[in-house]
Amino acid sequence: MSVDPTSAKPLPVITDLTRPFWTAAKAGRLVLQKCQQCGTFNFHPKPWCIECGSRALEWTDARPGGTVYSHTVSRSVAMNYQGWAADLPVILCLVDLDDGARMYAQVTDCAPEEIRVGMRVTVHFESISDEAGIPKFRLERSAA
Ligand SMILES: [Zn+2]
Repeated sequence: MSVDPTSAKPLPVITDLTRPFWTAAKAGRLVLQKCQQCGTFNFHPKPWCIECGSRALEWTDARPGGTVYSHTVSRSVAMNYQGWAADLPVILCLVDLDDGARMYAQVTDCAPEEIRVGMRVTVHFESISDEAGIPKFRLERSAA
C-alpha cells in the first residue's frame, strides 16, 4: 500500500481475514469473531481462537458498549499523516468491549481533559472508503 503521508489518513490493508470487520463497520455494525467452541470474542481477527485455539470462528454482532481501559491524547500529527491535522487533538483508547475483547480505537466528541479510565463508551462508525468503515467510540452520557 502506498499513501502520500503528507495528504491523507492511512487506510487499512483489507484482507480476506479482516474484510468482514471493515465492511460491517461500513454498514454500521460492530462484528467480531466469536469462537464456537468456547464463546470467546476474538480481536484482532485471527485464524484461530486466542483462548482455545479452535478454528471454528464465526463473525458475530457484538454489543456496542465498552469501558475505557487506558487512553492517551495525540496533539501532534500522528506519523506525519497530515489528514489527521484537522482532528487534533485525538483521543486514543484501549476499550474493553462488553463482550470481552479489547479494541484500540478513537474516542470522539470528548474533551481531552475529560477522558478517564473506567468511563463507559458506546460505538459509532465513520465511513473511511467505498469498502470500509471504522468503529469509534463516544462517552455514554446519562440522559439527565
Ligand atoms: Zn475458543
